[in-house]
Amino acid sequence: MPEFQRPRGTRDFGPEEMARRRFVEVKMRETARLFGFGEVMTPTFESTELFVARSGEGIVDELYAFEDKGNRKISLRPELTASVMRFYVNEMQSLPKPVKIFYFGNCFRYERPQAGRYREFFQLGAELIGAPSIESDAEVIALALATLKNLGLEDVAVRIGHLGVLNKFIKDLKIPENTEKEARKLVDKRDFEVLRIILDGAQANDEATARLIELVSLEGEEANSRAREEAGSDKSFGYLTNLLDRLKAYGFENCQLDFGVARGLDYYTGMVFEIDAPSLGAEKQICGGGAYTLADLFGGQEVNSTGYAFGFDRIMLALENSGVNVPSQNLEVYILPIGDAAKTVSIGILSELRNAGISADMDLMGRNMSKAMKYANNIGAENVILIGEKELADDSVTIRNMKSGDQKKCPKNKIKDYL
Ligand code: AMP
Repeated sequence: MPEFQRPRGTRDFGPEEMARRRFVEVKMRETARLFGFGEVMTPTFESTELFVARSGEGIVDELYAFEDKGNRKISLRPELTASVMRFYVNEMQSLPKPVKIFYFGNCFRYERPQAGRYREFFQLGAELIGAPSIESDAEVIALALATLKNLGLEDVAVRIGHLGVLNKFIKDLKIPENTEKEARKLVDKRDFEVLRIILDGAQANDEATARLIELVSLEGEEANSRAREEAGSDKSFGYLTNLLDRLKAYGFENCQLDFGVARGLDYYTGMVFEIDAPSLGAEKQICGGGAYTLADLFGGQEVNSTGYAFGFDRIMLALENSGVNVPSQNLEVYILPIGDAAKTVSIGILSELRNAGISADMDLMGRNMSKAMKYANNIGAENVILIGEKELADDSVTIRNMKSGDQKKCPKNKIKDYL
């Protein structure tokens, strides 16, 4: 056994996997750019207080929290919304609205590791700050869905809820505030059996209990039609149908409502949404977000904001499970000089190809022909360029296409055209 092990819940990524991760990351960034969002970066650690202000004291158990040498209480970030909103309050409040920003970064949570759940993982998220809420909610959900569409990840389900709807039904239960909180958590977990037991115990109104459970159990089209039926008489239902119409105009027709989405955090105010990739099994949630107020909590002016975070690692897993082809890095050319005299000529060609943006490598180990071919095959090189005495004599090279096995001679100054 090696002396040093990776810390539990962390991963190493080799060149092939990194190439695939970068490919996906670049595509996701590109979609954010198309939507007019600009990238920001914040520190990997913040004062522990920031995360407590956002999520309550309970969050500390989940944090990598420590005291630094100046006795400051510091934590590795468990997510980036708090950091981004701190940044907004510190430096971006006077910018013209809306402020549209996105981020990509590693997050740390002291959780029990399992498939799709790590102690260091990556989130790519977006926040839209300062626009009226319906416009902001629609644009943000559309960005999340467009990002997945551009990745080719089709096997996903978005569920959109509204805390106004949920909270009204919970208020009707007439139960103490801490039981309300517990009820919200159970609704979020879809654990209706335990919910019923808790509500019975708290002597919640029977009729209100039945109405709540009926509402949060509605799935898919049932939930959408309920919102349409009640849109005229209830503001939050009306809001959701309006949102569905807007998403349809963005080209996303298959959005489903789910009144049981609660998101578990107090600062969410209205619309909340989650996206699942069913192929992932237990840890299938790949995105969570909603409308929130945080700026005022952090000492800034109150402002509408909507945001979300994608679990990047789970997106990678979902792409793999769905058989979406994510290319890893390919070396286009591997050059094999045969004999010493061919070496400087090979270096010249190598540099020319690299300068032209063609990825190229050259044998550095003095391998013979059959070993070099094996190696080129192993590293997935697309072409091998052979330069021996014959080639040197007539200023040519031999190019072998590794996939087809075709081999052709080509004048030295025509290599780029040939490739
Ligand atoms: P949250 O900030 O908890 O709403 O998480 C947003 C997304 O990050 C989730 O939907 C997951 O996809 C992902 N995520 C959260 N925790 C982890 C973790 N420990 N490991 C991997 N991904 C995670």
